[in-house]
Amino acid sequence: MKKILVTGGAGFVGSHLCERLLKEGHYILCLDNYFTGDKRNIVHLLDSHFFEVVRHDVTMPFYAEVDEIYNLACPASPIHYQDNAIKTVKTSVMGAINMLGLAKRKNAKILQASTSEVYGDPKIHPQPETYWGNVNPIGQRSCYDEGKRCAETLFVNYHLQNDVRIKIIRIFNTYGPRMHPNDGRVVSNFILQALRGEDITVYGDGMQTRSFQYVDDLVEGMIRTMNTEDAFMGPVNIGNPNEFTILQLAQTVIKLIGSKSKVIHLPLPADDPLQRQPDIALAKEKLNGWEPKIQLEEGLFRTIEYFKSILRR
Ligand code: NAD
Ligand code: UDP
Repeated sequence: MKKILVTGGAGFVGSHLCERLLKEGHYILCLDNYFTGDKRNIVHLLDSHFFEVVRHDVTMPFYAEVDEIYNLACPASPIHYQDNAIKTVKTSVMGAINMLGLAKRKNAKILQASTSEVYGDPKIHPQPETYWGNVNPIGQRSCYDEGKRCAETLFVNYHLQNDVRIKIIRIFNTYGPRMHPNDGRVVSNFILQALRGEDITVYGDGMQTRSFQYVDDLVEGMIRTMNTEDAFMGPVNIGNPNEFTILQLAQTVIKLIGSKSKVIHLPLPADDPLQRQPDIALAKEKLNGWEPKIQLEEGLFRTIEYFKSILRR
């Protein structure tokens, strides 16, 4: 039984990861400051003797006996990470330093949840890991993008200077049950708007693209990455390469829900990337043929069921 620390464990992705690792027979230490996380995401795990929750902020040092660390703590949606931009940078950078320090002291393996945002508004399509990106360092998204880029730098240098065993994954847009209902991300917004019969708010002309990954596929990719041989550190893209325009997403959600909602267009936020699609060749090669299994309609169906259930609460 491994003792595994999951920072950001009460969040959307973290809660699914904790659930899966617990099922695999590990001891889970779930750390969260509940900024965007919710105890309801993990309440069903609390009966297990092998699941422990700590309220803690990763910008402060943390000490525990652990074998592996998944570092997810960081607000992920534009609304939340822009709410306190300085805190977002601190969470990414000081959080990485504190968790890498812990990994160094305990000789623990550590995985960083990085992001496709390190590619910014990409000039290369699809994005391979070798692409350095096109990021505005002083824009609305920069607290998140540059924080995550600096965290990658820290990970690589803790490995080079201190032999810390690191893994970096770059996550592309992920959705599923337990997304925060008010985080403004496109999938949760469209589903809630369609369920409530409200207008569907497409920003810009809706021709910008994203590639949407269902959360179970991400969790599988994360665990496989952690279990690779030490020589493989990434960064590795984990995402679903099926690319859709935002307008297509809106139409699909309306169809699946059978909603009467109408699409309206609102201004496009600053620095909104025009297109995004992962090149997953490296993940397929290094992660035993890993590739996403759940395609958009099935994933949306499961997510819609979740949002129906929270509207009944
Ligand atoms: P989320 O907001 O649901 O989860 C983040 C969790 O971290 C929350 O529980 C929050 O309370 C916690 N947290 C935030 N700041 C903290 C701090 N200072 N100390 C301790 N805990 C803190 O977001 P998510 O979608 O689950 O994202 C998880 C990770 O995956 C993030 O690092 C995010 O950057 C990365 N990621 C997610 C996506 C996606 O599409 N969901 C895409 C790329 C990268
Ligand atoms: N978006 C939209 N309507 C919404 C929320 C988002 O059209 O109600 C668009 C947004 O402008 C972006 C895409 O959907 O082009 C994905 O936005 P999200 O915030 O989910 O993720 P990110 O931009 O970080 O990929």
